[in-house]
Amino acid sequence: TNVMEAKNVKLKYGSFEALHGISLAFPAQKLTALIGPSGCGKSTFLRCLNRMNDDIDDINITGEILLEGKDIYHSHIDLVALRKKVGMVFQQPTPFPFSVFDNVAYGLRIAGVKDKDLIEQRVEESLKQAAIWNETKDSLQRNALAFSGGQQQRICIARALAIRPEVVLLDEPTSALDPISSSEIEETLMALKQKYTFIMVTHNLQQASRVSDQVAFLMNGELIESGSTQEMFLSP
Ligand code: ADP
Ligand code: ADP
Repeated sequence: TNVMEAKNVKLKYGSFEALHGISLAFPAQKLTALIGPSGCGKSTFLRCLNRMNDDIDDINITGEILLEGKDIYHSHIDLVALRKKVGMVFQQPTPFPFSVFDNVAYGLRIAGVKDKDLIEQRVEESLKQAAIWNETKDSLQRNALAFSGGQQQRICIARALAIRPEVVLLDEPTSALDPISSSEIEETLMALKQKYTFIMVTHNLQQASRVSDQVAFLMNGELIESGSTQEMFLSP
């Protein structure tokens, strides 16, 4: 089944059309890689999927983006409800300048969760899922910015997972990291596919071939080709 589906999505920044009608379905518990040259519209498209673009001036988006069958632009889903279902991880690790615990608890608190035990339990589980528990369990009150870049990115992954989203969007999540941190994060994402649906922008074809199940190639705002990673990369 598909958790999300984009249908004929067109996006204009002013008079410049950055997306020319993208249709793509995102199967549950799979990782879809969005690839293509710089400027082809990968980030723009990714940001449509949780309405991150909304506050840009003079933007015009048409078409449909369905989340569990409901159009996120035209149904009554509000942004808080949407962000509970669709989490996001950025290229630059961007923890907030406060403790590891408060970073990971952030989304839960916005969502109105008050139960302290539940918050503690979720923080621990999420840090474990992001494979950063061992390095943080004795320093949960330490400022997240005191950790290394790779560790900060894992804290951001834990922060995205804490709300238990259906879908996690990742915008080049490893391209600011060293090769070891990068491959460790790839392993973490692969291990989490049973629990989450991932949609990841990457400009790294090798990374896409290693971690993704489905690949979509964009060029100049158009979807040129999409299909299973197996067929695209691994067939003789
Ligand atoms: P990619 O992620 O593939 O590098 P982007 O989605 O960032 O591509 O950009 C696609 C195109 O849209 C580029 O031509 C870029 O300059 C343009 N663009 C991106 N964001 C904006 C914006 N806020 N306003 C105007 N043009 C934008
Ligand atoms: P990244 O490569 O990390 O996606 P970019 O350098 O493409 O970052 O874009 C950084 C920010 O600038 C994004 O929020 C994007 O929307 C915006 N942006 C990109 N291109 C343009 C543009 N031509 N005009 C205005 N804003 C842009």
